[in-house]
Amino acid sequence: MNNYDRIFIEIKLADMIPIKRLMTGVFLLFTINTLSQNTSDAKMNSFVNDLMKKMTLEEKIGQLNLLTPGGGIATGAVVSKGVEEKISKGQVGGLFGVIGEAKIRQAQELAVTKSRLKIPLLFGSDVIHGYKTTFPIPLALSCSWDMAMIERSARIAATEATADGLCWAFSPMVDIARDPRWGRIAEGAGEDPYMGSQVAKAMVKGYQNGDLSRNNTLMACVKHFALYGGADGGRDYNTVDMSKLTMYNNYLLPYKAAVDAGVGSVMSSFNVIDYVPATGNKWLLTDLLRNQWGFKGFVVSDYTSVNEMIDHGLGDLQQVSALALKAGLDMDMVGEGFLTTLQKSLKEGKVTQKQIDDACKRILEAKYKLGLFADPYKYCNAERARKEVLSDDKKMAAREFASRSFVLLKNNAQTLPLKKSGSIALIGPLANDKNNMLGTWAVSGNRNLSVPVLDGMKNIAGNNVSITYAKGANISDDTTFAKKVNVFGTRIDIDKSSPQEMIDEAIGIANQSDVIVAVVGEASEMSGESANRSDIQIPESQMKLMKALKKTGKPLVLVILAGRPLVLNWEKENADAILFSGHAGQEVGNAVADLLFGNYNPSGKLTNSFPRNVGQIPIYYNHLNTGRPNPGDKFEKFRSNYLDVENSPLFPFGYGISYTTFSYSGVKLSDSKMNSMGKVTASVTVTNTGNFDGEEVVQFYIRDMVASISRPVKELKGFQKIMLKKGESKEVSFTISVNDLKFYNSHLKYVAEPGDFKLFIGGNSRDVKERNFKLLK
Ligand code: BGC
Repeated sequence: MNNYDRIFIEIKLADMIPIKRLMTGVFLLFTINTLSQNTSDAKMNSFVNDLMKKMTLEEKIGQLNLLTPGGGIATGAVVSKGVEEKISKGQVGGLFGVIGEAKIRQAQELAVTKSRLKIPLLFGSDVIHGYKTTFPIPLALSCSWDMAMIERSARIAATEATADGLCWAFSPMVDIARDPRWGRIAEGAGEDPYMGSQVAKAMVKGYQNGDLSRNNTLMACVKHFALYGGADGGRDYNTVDMSKLTMYNNYLLPYKAAVDAGVGSVMSSFNVIDYVPATGNKWLLTDLLRNQWGFKGFVVSDYTSVNEMIDHGLGDLQQVSALALKAGLDMDMVGEGFLTTLQKSLKEGKVTQKQIDDACKRILEAKYKLGLFADPYKYCNAERARKEVLSDDKKMAAREFASRSFVLLKNNAQTLPLKKSGSIALIGPLANDKNNMLGTWAVSGNRNLSVPVLDGMKNIAGNNVSITYAKGANISDDTTFAKKVNVFGTRIDIDKSSPQEMIDEAIGIANQSDVIVAVVGEASEMSGESANRSDIQIPESQMKLMKALKKTGKPLVLVILAGRPLVLNWEKENADAILFSGHAGQEVGNAVADLLFGNYNPSGKLTNSFPRNVGQIPIYYNHLNTGRPNPGDKFEKFRSNYLDVENSPLFPFGYGISYTTFSYSGVKLSDSKMNSMGKVTASVTVTNTGNFDGEEVVQFYIRDMVASISRPVKELKGFQKIMLKKGESKEVSFTISVNDLKFYNSHLKYVAEPGDFKLFIGGNSRDVKERNFKLLK
């Protein structure tokens, strides 16, 4: 049954008035849906089983092999060799890193004309934040707290990528990250499991749109399963070691949300979990993912993560490949351990035919669901590619998404928005830059399409503003550091002028201007894979520039672009205004200008706590209380604290201000107690008390005061982004049911325990109004 049939039946049923008939109708609809699902499953089964009967062992193992012929970005040491020959021999199940409709068509042609059984290939790619039209990095998108927008960003990326031949996206990345030293924090949705789960759902929905058979939906791949963000010391690929309770109550939730949303595939992570690498971890890939969560799709390894189990100390290539297959891994990315050792392992009884068949079946099922057997070229349509790729509407969306992802951290004396008159000194190494705007993991994006901030400002300022630009500093003066960052091309460009000459030029301009806008931060490849930092301040060269600019006494506005939360003490203390964003994609310049000149009122909120220094890391708002909690930030001996820094972050989770101000009433409860079947509504009235129309993200947290295990001091359970006109008030309500109070207990049972709770509502995780509340037995 297609969607139209379904809608038709739903309309018919709505015409039946009496409840009994309606119930019968609902049952009927349910039955029809189930029957049609069963019929299509049965069709798929019989197709795949018939095909598998014809396949040799070698061909079955071939389906488990994912290669990259290079030309895209290789993130490991290996790029696949002899790809054409392998495709012709039926030794390849899919390719990634092949970009463009024509190239994909060519490779598909090889598979469906040259290989014996003509099985089509899957074509995947890292479609992470947009495809060729590049949106803000995922961390920045999450700061919009706008799930409809995030879903739309994935939907647009899917439309564009499928028009260009792709059918599979290695996204969403939903790894919880509490450590901003870790470069890949850029790719996720921050530190919170509720936020992470909402984003995971939105992204899967956006990519897959509930129907993989269409030619404009992409199969999503949730990654990196699991706990990849928990790397010790924030060092990529490093050991992860955490309790089952932290896993279940925090880190695992976003992956589970993606599975519940019907994600088609899962990518295993590089790290160990309970000392066993995820890629060979049977508890993870089979017991939890398939048996407990009911995942029905296939699991692909990360880039050579099968082979990397050799270095983890789990055996030679044959051993680790067998371990991965037995654990529940279906597809081997790049390393060819499956291709080269599974036949031998089968002969030696180290794996079973059933294990190979199961994996092969799951890959073929994905191809069937995508409709590739019916039409292997269904995503290859040059006309569609011409129409969809980099179309104007996508560019407009990129601008809108960028505007909505910025977070205003400070705005003294209404320094912002800027007046559309007078003179502006636009300074900084990121102010007129195209190399660092797209952010990390923009593998199909074109840096040259980036709108620099200078251009954006000129586009919007109008004739009454004079804008003068100077670079002022290199992103970093450290040539050794720059070399490490510049592996994919120049990102840190060290100028011929000396640092002092650059600063002098900038100061000269600043002195003649009314206001300074300094665009500073990180190069795009200072975050992302294998891009960790032990010092997360803005690099020294730019600190010197900012300090010199401050000395001019002119109002100092900082626009900070980065791939991670940064330590911003000096900036908070000294700047008049700070606008922060993760690298905001190709339309960044226009978006920054929209915000600076007040065409758009900032509405983003942080999805990570920003530390005061690196020593506070890991830092996250939903921590436990400890037995000796420090009262506020004042030091008390024999309390849990530091001698040299407060406990609180510099900017808390959920923080972000606006050009206007909002006030919150106290929290009203529909009842102060509830039984396990009941519902209670908590509401506040939010008023726009400032001078601009604006949006506010109203956040709802709970705390379980007494339980069988220690529970976090606060946990996000809901949020609403609302628009309020100047002077307007709105009541915002959150409905609480027992599900919002549940957690995994010591037996890993998901329970709500009766007793006292606190509810909090506010504009960030720190500044909240609270009420007590009871869950009855
Ligand atoms: C990354 C993945 C990515 C894969 C393919 C790996 O290095 O960890 O996130 O999807 O490469 O490009």
